[in-house]
Amino acid sequence: MASKAIDIREGSTGDRLFAQIGAFLSAHRLSPDPAHYALAHEVLSNAAGLIAQRVAAITDGGVRLTAQDITSLGGQAVIGAPVDDGQDAAADDAMIADAATHEAMIERILMQIDGFGDTMRNAHAEAGDFGRDLARSAALIRDAGPAVTSEQIGRLTDDMIERVQRAEARLDAARRETDELRVALDEARGSARTDPLTDLPNRRAFDEAFAALDRSKVITVAICDIDHFKRVNDNFGHAVGDRVIRSVAKTLRAECRCLVARYGGEEFALLFEGVTLEEAARQVEHARHAMTLRRLRVRETGEPIGVVSFSAGVAEGTASEGRAALMARADAALYRAKDQGRAQTITAP
Ligand code: GH3
Ligand code: MG
Ligand code: MG
Repeated sequence: MASKAIDIREGSTGDRLFAQIGAFLSAHRLSPDPAHYALAHEVLSNAAGLIAQRVAAITDGGVRLTAQDITSLGGQAVIGAPVDDGQDAAADDAMIADAATHEAMIERILMQIDGFGDTMRNAHAEAGDFGRDLARSAALIRDAGPAVTSEQIGRLTDDMIERVQRAEARLDAARRETDELRVALDEARGSARTDPLTDLPNRRAFDEAFAALDRSKVITVAICDIDHFKRVNDNFGHAVGDRVIRSVAKTLRAECRCLVARYGGEEFALLFEGVTLEEAARQVEHARHAMTLRRLRVRETGEPIGVVSFSAGVAEGTASEGRAALMARADAALYRAKDQGRAQTITAP
């Protein structure tokens, strides 16, 4: 009996520790390798210990352990295992959250449309009944002639007032519902124009911004395309490729004072208003140079990705030339930049 009681107690403590270790590995995106398991066990079974305290200090504020952290703690990070610094996970989570938010938004709009439909149908039915009852009451009063009593007229008037008040309340509800619907649609419109990976405006947003331009103003567009990007995916995987796209997006946004949009997979379109070809090309070159200074590494392994370059084509014109024609000139310049060895910016004649 006694040993059974101990077994159960030990079992539940062990289960708890096992669950905590699982949660720890999952939170830090660590694979269940013995080396990671040993670290997690040490941290969780000896909360007052040095290792646990150092982990607490490193991970304060929800930061994930990196491979380097684990090594510095005397542990062993398993190469190829999913170790993360939290940034990608945050972006992945953001993407999942974006999709979920979008779904929830659509669901909410559909529900509001249903509700609005019900309100309007009820209001319509009530208005129809009201009209019929009014006509019937008017006929009764006419038929009764001078015999109609003031009490009867008072009852009819009270009834009418009550119905008018009900109709007003319904119309108020309908007005509120349309306001909410408008807000929800504005939110949905915003997320339909944002690229979830980079948070940049997407192609649709770019095209709309172009369509809204002052047709007389000088505008310059640039198309930037990451060089040999397929190799990044092939060598390091799609997730690392995504991270590289985010990195280029961030650099372009930081260095160029214009609308930066993600136009396609590894392609960005820039829209400069009232900016000459030379100035736009200068800003793009600045971004290109900034990218060459970045030493990107695979966070999981510390392996260098190498310099990520892009090529760019820039073209100046006016909005009246039309987006397609202007973008085609920028694209032709981009093609030349690729053809002439990549990692350069070419301006269209
Ligand atoms: P180039 O220098 O001529 O532009 O070569 P490239 O390899 O960059 O061009 P290519 O068009 O051959 O390949 C582009 C690759 O980009 C192919 C596609 O799988 C990848 N890609 C497109 N969108 C995404 C994305 O969102 N994430 C990742 N990781 N890869 C993407
Ligand atoms: Mg491309
Ligand atoms: Mg490319």
